[in-house]
Order: sequence, then structure tokens, then C-alpha cells
Amino acid sequence: MRITRVARPDGPAFGVVRDEYVVLVDGHPFGELSLTNQVAPLEKVRLLAPIIPSKILCVGKNYADHAAELGSDVPAEPLIFSKPATAVVGPGDEIRLPVLSELVHHEAELAVVIGRLTRKVSPAEARGAVLGYTCANDVTARDLQQRDGQWTRAKGFDTFCPLGPWIETELDPSGGLRVRAIVNGEVRQHGCTADLIFDIPTIISYCAAFTTLLPGDLILTGTPSGVGPILPGDTVTIDIEGIGTLSNPAVADTK
Ligand code: MG
Repeated sequence: MRITRVARPDGPAFGVVRDEYVVLVDGHPFGELSLTNQVAPLEKVRLLAPIIPSKILCVGKNYADHAAELGSDVPAEPLIFSKPATAVVGPGDEIRLPVLSELVHHEAELAVVIGRLTRKVSPAEARGAVLGYTCANDVTARDLQQRDGQWTRAKGFDTFCPLGPWIETELDPSGGLRVRAIVNGEVRQHGCTADLIFDIPTIISYCAAFTTLLPGDLILTGTPSGVGPILPGDTVTIDIEGIGTLSNPAVADTK
């Protein structure tokens, strides 16, 4: 199932993507869903970020080739940081390049969407915590990341977490899904989830050992090599096999 969230005149609504249509649903993705008779062509609706999480946890340096391009060793255990929920934007929304940074990078990542309250679970138990997966761009002010010594500001600007286009609930990343970032039609990152250093059950278990994961929370699983600059006027597309594509234009922020 592909769970989407769309703009409606009376506010955001959840829907399910069926072929080239969105069928609006009654209920919530974390409970019982039932299809309504309200159907709209996919191309006619405005897709929103499929979920607004209570928190976004991210794994740093979770692909060996990306750790190498940063000049880093592979971490001995998952390296976790967070992005604020206010960084989330949806498909087609602008990535605003802040005046405080001169070097903003794209990072294509598979995002795990947590489906139920989860704490202190083993990796085997963690599999049951997953509602599904979506595409994310862990947009990063690389200069501030290096200058600040920690990553809160560099990763946390408004618009620095594009998500979408929907949550795919029937997907198994363990076999290896292609993860790509494409800028203005040029492939910049091309990785595979089979190369994750820490796999998804391990990451969920690691995070749930220190914080309670709530339904809708996200875990961004890290980015493969090939990160690079986003410039005003660029269109950045995150493309993940089995999910779809998430495209966002970049603009210079004005103040
Ligand atoms: Mg990242």
C-alpha cells in the first residue's frame, strides 16, 4: 500500500495511491483505514509530506563509501543525530538555501516510518515497528557542519528534510534497494541499501534503547557517496527503488 497525504480545501487528508489515482481514506495510517468514494487523479492533487513526525532521527556515516568521502572512519556503533520536525517539506516544495551557509549538500536517504510506540526492542522485535518507507533528503549545510563541531544547525534549517512522495508499506530493503540523488537530471549519488553498515532493525533497536519512538517518527538511514552542492535553481530528485521519486526545487533564501 502507498499511503499519501494530500492538500484538500478543508485541510490535509490521507489517501492511498492506486495506479494513477489517489483514493481518500477515512481513519489514520496508524489505525484502521477504509477507502472512501473520493478519488482524484494523482496528477491533479498536491502531495504533502506523507507524515509530520514528532521527531526525526538520522544515522550518520552509515555507508562506508560516504564515510570515506568525508575523510572519516566507519563508526563502531550507529552515529545518531536528529533534525527538527520543522525541517520537513513535501514533494515539490522549495529547499531554501540559507544565507548563513555557502555550501549546502544533498543526501539521498531511505527513511523508515515507525508505525507504533516502540521502546527497548531487540532487532528482531524492531521489524514489527515499521509502518513503511519513504524517500528523504537529509539536506546539510556542510560548511556549518564542519565549523560547528556538532550538527544541529547544519542539519536543522527549515526545508532541510524533504519527504515523500508517499509511504510504501510493502517493501523489504534488506535485499538491497537502489538509492539515487539526481540533480537537474544528472545522477550524483547511486547507492544500495544492501550496503548499509548498520541494518534497519539494528538502527531501530539502537534508537529505541534511548528514546521512545512514536507512530510517525522517522529514521533516516544514511546516505551513500556522491553528496554534492545544491545551488539556486537546481532541482534535486531522490529516487528509491520500490518507492518512487521526490523532487524539490532549490531557491536562495532572502534573509
Ligand atoms: Mg545523512
